[in-house]
Amino acid sequence: MLYYNLNDRDEKVDFKTAAIKGQGNKKGLFFPEKVPVLPATFWKHFHQLSKAEMAFEVLRPYVQPSLTEQQLFNIVEETFNFDIPLVNVNENISSLELFHGPTLAFKDVGARFMSRCLGLFAQNRADKLTVLVATSGDTGGAVANGFYDVDGVEVIILYPSGKVSEVQEKQLTTLGKNIRAIEIKGTFDDCQALVKQAFADEELQQKLFLTSANSINVARWLPQQMYYFFAYQQWEDSVNPPVISVPSGNFGNICAGLLAQQSGLPVKHFIAACNINDVVPRYLRSGKYTPQPAQATLSNAMDVGIPSNFVRIEELFTQSLPLLQSNLSGATVTDKITIETIQKVYAAYDYMLDPHGAVAYKALEDYLKNHREEKGIFLETAHPVKFISTVEQALHKKIALPESLSILMKAQKKADLLDVSYDEFKSYILS
Ligand SMILES: *Cc1c(COP(=O)(O)O)cnc(C)c1O
Repeated sequence: MLYYNLNDRDEKVDFKTAAIKGQGNKKGLFFPEKVPVLPATFWKHFHQLSKAEMAFEVLRPYVQPSLTEQQLFNIVEETFNFDIPLVNVNENISSLELFHGPTLAFKDVGARFMSRCLGLFAQNRADKLTVLVATSGDTGGAVANGFYDVDGVEVIILYPSGKVSEVQEKQLTTLGKNIRAIEIKGTFDDCQALVKQAFADEELQQKLFLTSANSINVARWLPQQMYYFFAYQQWEDSVNPPVISVPSGNFGNICAGLLAQQSGLPVKHFIAACNINDVVPRYLRSGKYTPQPAQATLSNAMDVGIPSNFVRIEELFTQSLPLLQSNLSGATVTDKITIETIQKVYAAYDYMLDPHGAVAYKALEDYLKNHREEKGIFLETAHPVKFISTVEQALHKKIALPESLSILMKAQKKADLLDVSYDEFKSYILS
């Protein structure tokens, strides 16, 4: 499979190059030349396949010839080694729980797959690969965990001091070994700007073999389509496919679902569920695309003003808005409604939502009110304990930490505190 650059269609690269470069010329995202359609033999055995076997079949065309079949199989076995259950919340709505991985959020899937690919690509090179990433919270933990102890790869994570949750900070700063955390006395945007400047710095590029673990990387994006297949394997109605509601920020997750659908996965309709950062829902309603600066909300992993993966969705639908609208609806859910939803679902069904899952649940519930013959799935992208203060305040009760987290919370934080200064940052990473 070759990938072309959406901003420079003559640039075509293989999977390995796309994964190492992250993005192409003119900051373009890479896109597969052709979406593979799954053969009838795949569907014949669909219900017997293990998660790894299914991932192997679906992802194989995307990674050839950069990975051998054996390499791919090992990678998907390690990536999908935790449960991804579909849980009934009520008669019409099920939750796809994506939070049973090591850092309790769905980003574990993309980060684990990508880290293992880059680990392989870094082999037999004299210089170490340095992964540089800025995080507002969940990405850093998933990337740190995914790359931990991977040979030949050094990871440097920048995070804004005092602006990530306590659990998130511990996940970033307690691993050690090949993972270094830098606490920046600034905002997430400052961290992001330092990383961008580093990638534009030719002197640095010559001294270090740098790559980014940004969510637009194909090695993070492509494996995310797998849990839509795992959901359908657990879906009991063989006649009516599900409506799927996805809590969306940068739109990588939902874009992976739309890709799975084009490969042949039965899905009735998609809902892009957003908080008040709702540029895409507004576009789907009005046909006007007006990005705005991000505003802070309770579902902070979705506080994105300019969703970077949306260009891939437009490409999937051949730049046709009517085609897109027939398959994708948008919904906007405020913080107030998010809290009310956490309360109502807990009271009525004894099911605890995190703020991101609550946004998606609410959007799905509203959609089904107008489509009474349909049923659906929402993606629960994080464990409620990752956003414990919000959930405790909503429910007026204490929530017990799972054991893995109590151990983590006792671990020693190790991070270097730096000012927002490129010179300081550069000499730090060169030392
Ligand atoms: C990153 C994240 C999202 C948003 O996913 P996108 O792929 O950026 O749309 C939603 N929920 C949680 C918990 C996240 O960490």
